[in-house]
Amino acid sequence: MSPSPTHRLMHRVIAVLALATIGLLVWHRFGMERVIDLTTRPDVRRDVMDDRWMGGSSRVALERRGGTLTMRCQLARTIDWPACKYQFVISDTETGIDLSEFDAVTFDVSYRGPGRHALRMMVLNYEPGISKVENPMSQKVNELEFPVPASGTIRVPLNVLHTATWWIDYMKVPLEHTDMRLDNVTRVELLTGASSTAGEHVIELRSLRLHGKWITSRELYMGLMAAWILCAVSWPILTAVQLRRELGDTGRRLALLAEINAALQLEARELVEQANTDPLTGALNRQGLRAALMSTSSLLAPPMAVLFADIDHFKRINDGHGHDVGDAVLRDFAALIHGEIRANDKLVRWGGEEFLIVCPATGAEQARQLAEKLRAALHTGTWPAGLCVTASFGIAARAQDEDIGALIKRADGALYAAKAAGRDRVVVADAPVPPGAGWPMLSTGPQYD
Ligand code: GH3
Ligand code: MG
Ligand code: MG
Repeated sequence: MSPSPTHRLMHRVIAVLALATIGLLVWHRFGMERVIDLTTRPDVRRDVMDDRWMGGSSRVALERRGGTLTMRCQLARTIDWPACKYQFVISDTETGIDLSEFDAVTFDVSYRGPGRHALRMMVLNYEPGISKVENPMSQKVNELEFPVPASGTIRVPLNVLHTATWWIDYMKVPLEHTDMRLDNVTRVELLTGASSTAGEHVIELRSLRLHGKWITSRELYMGLMAAWILCAVSWPILTAVQLRRELGDTGRRLALLAEINAALQLEARELVEQANTDPLTGALNRQGLRAALMSTSSLLAPPMAVLFADIDHFKRINDGHGHDVGDAVLRDFAALIHGEIRANDKLVRWGGEEFLIVCPATGAEQARQLAEKLRAALHTGTWPAGLCVTASFGIAARAQDEDIGALIKRADGALYAAKAAGRDRVVVADAPVPPGAGWPMLSTGPQYD
């Protein structure tokens, strides 16, 4: 079975998702770089500061030329930790930027001055529960000192930063909060090295860039996991929806087929009925009798009787009043008999104006009474064109093991006798003579005009 459109769509979605997963992981690992340039970013405040606020006597001045920030520091070693520094203020509130997925900082810098050339970088992270907005010193100081060449670009990995021990002492931070964290950075500072020699230090900073990723690995993994979970969950749901739809379609098709089948059965039944029925009178025809005898074998079980009813002088009716009146008389005649016989008696148009009535569970006497009842009903009935219609009846009751052909023949003989006796009467055939005992006798002698 070929897959449904829903399954084809799901296969495509999974293929796209698999490719996207691989693509995003590779891109995240080797690309997707996000750069924050602290020297040009408009929402960053750039400034310099010396150590006078700590009681020192160094002097600093800032020169801005294009994108270049030149710090001139007159370092005086009058306190233990003299310093001049650049300040890059990202935020004055308790909300900084998340640099946890940033892996490096690059500096394009030139350094002139006495002694060893080194710079200290401090990344201040606002930590809820420890830091206070009003005290910049309360923000966690992650620091690192690195040597600086006379001129060029330096790349410093961020994972080598560590929480400054002096800050831990100063803030009396519990051990569990002393880890290096960069998830809420509010400022970055660049200071002269801790053991810088006194004298003029000229530092030209052309750029300070933070290098990271557009989204954190955590966000990427969570997003990918959510996409795969959604895919896994929607698969059975879509399959169930699809199955339901198919089931509905099949159900509708089955219902339609059942309807067609019922209609065909109805039509077939009508056709069978038509084939078994005389169209003028609605009585069974000979084929109908055959079918009835085949389907209901008890019809012939003795005691049973057959009656022939033949309209008297019917030819005269036709001749005197026309064929249509003749037809109407035939119809009324059949309807009248139908109204008088039992439901399980069978009325058969034997031919022309001659009818056969098959009466199961009926003896000769009962059959005679029925025939008399019918004869009387014909007399009292009203007929087309004010006619008086009578009929002659020949009856035969079936003997044990008697052949149906022989039975009908005996009834026909009795009818012949009734006609011969003057019509409008009932004649019951004698019981058949057992083989070798002679010919059956009729109750009225044959006399037919
Ligand atoms: P009897 O009393 O001896 O039975 O005389 P009868 O005239 O009834 O009998 P006969 O057999 O001489 O005539 C029967 C007529 O019935 C002849 C035929 O044209 C006519 N007939 C047969 N079938 C039909 C029919 O379907 N419609 C009409 N209107 N007449 C029919
Ligand atoms: Mg007749
Ligand atoms: Mg006849």
